[in-house]
Amino acid sequence: MTKERVRVMKFGGTSVGDAACIRRAAEIIAAAAAEGPVVAVVSAMSGVTNRLIEAAQASSTGNRRLAAELAERLREQHQTAIEALVSDADRRTELSGETEKIIEHVTGLCYGTALLRELTPRVLDEILSTGERLSARLLANTLCEMGLKSRAVEATELIVTDNVSGRAEPLMEQTKVKAAARLLPLLEEDSVPVVTGFIGATAEGMLTTLGRGGSDYSATILGGALDAAEVIIWTDVDGVLTADPRLVADARTLREISYNEAAELAYFGAKVLHPKTLRPVSEAGIPVWIRNSFAPERHGTKITATGHPTARGVKAITAIGNVSLITVGGRGIVGLPGVAGKTFTAVASADANILLISQSSSQNDICFVINSDDEARTVEKLRQAFAIDLAHKAIEHITVNPEIAIVAVVGERMRGLLGIAGRTFSALGRRGVNIIAIAQGSSEYNVSFVVEAGMMREAVQSLHSEFGLQRRASRFESVTGESAMATV
Ligand code: ASP
Ligand code: MG
Repeated sequence: MTKERVRVMKFGGTSVGDAACIRRAAEIIAAAAAEGPVVAVVSAMSGVTNRLIEAAQASSTGNRRLAAELAERLREQHQTAIEALVSDADRRTELSGETEKIIEHVTGLCYGTALLRELTPRVLDEILSTGERLSARLLANTLCEMGLKSRAVEATELIVTDNVSGRAEPLMEQTKVKAAARLLPLLEEDSVPVVTGFIGATAEGMLTTLGRGGSDYSATILGGALDAAEVIIWTDVDGVLTADPRLVADARTLREISYNEAAELAYFGAKVLHPKTLRPVSEAGIPVWIRNSFAPERHGTKITATGHPTARGVKAITAIGNVSLITVGGRGIVGLPGVAGKTFTAVASADANILLISQSSSQNDICFVINSDDEARTVEKLRQAFAIDLAHKAIEHITVNPEIAIVAVVGERMRGLLGIAGRTFSALGRRGVNIIAIAQGSSEYNVSFVVEAGMMREAVQSLHSEFGLQRRASRFESVTGESAMATV
């Protein structure tokens, strides 16, 4: 065992987007490695995973053109970076050779798919793993070039998952054993392992992926498995903000938030974190940082168990568009047992994720919100499930409103604070924002509600100022020590 606890540092796609970014990432790692053991986790260079998906899908229809283009683009992007980053001739030849082999492998998989005109989930995972396999080697070699000891490590050797292709879940006990066995000897000899994010393998060795954006998850899985001192997610923003800066110009970076708050924010659309990211670390209380690799001098956001609660309770206002409100209703459903059960079974059979549920006490309506992409499928399943009730008019309508947005007020300390909901709805009332449905989770980490899509911006702005979240510190904030908050 290494004496010091390791730090896990993950670099997202934009943070390794080109040679200059990779050099910056390597400098951040080198500075950290001078202080203690570091495990790096990388995403694919930005854009690569999207291109892999497009090529795979085109191949499944028999179209080979995109696969050929993909190979060219991958070559261009990675070989250009190699030339800029690796000057040692032997190292460069070796890395170029490996890169070419990986590109040939993925092209072969695409051509095979085109021949068969069939893309199995397993082959798709294998194709998608290409981006991380290429970027990990690039970063490891850049570190070597800078005089550090480093090597790329395939996460298939570390992260053991179930066999669900495309969205595999880690098996933590087995992962602990494998990750320690493979990584600790490297750390022992002061080497920096650079691990492919996004990827795992079943106990039998079949490659899996953790879902889009899954490299964050890889980092915390390894952080949890190695009982890391902290996990740092290096990305292209300063941290978690009080609101989406495209909606609120004076949104500011939060210095510290809790695991629960971060999870609510990830769930409700703040795209900084993959929603499952905090699971592997929250029980052990391992802090997770969100930091900007383009401005590493900034503080970033620290995510901890308590999250430095503020007296005002509310931490952030978040919103999601591109969602639809579906209502199942009619007088006939009053007291009709099993309607909720049938509704949600139908939604589940459409494989749609429910973002918010609300039912009025008169039980005339059950309404819920899903992603608009899932809408058509879900409505079809509901109509099938309720075909008889619709015919008998026990259910009068299944309606869809796609012109809506969810807005949520998030904060752990809201629990037990009186009047947050009251203030929320009065503030919205004053600005003329009509509320279509309301839900509060029993966790009380958020109050969320549905508004017309056109009122989303207005709603977020008015709540952001109602709860004093804007950038300029108020007298109240300086009392709680928040005035030192990093600002954008
Ligand atoms: N490269 C993968 C994706 O784009 C994983 C990640 O970037 O986290 O989804
Ligand atoms: Mg990414």
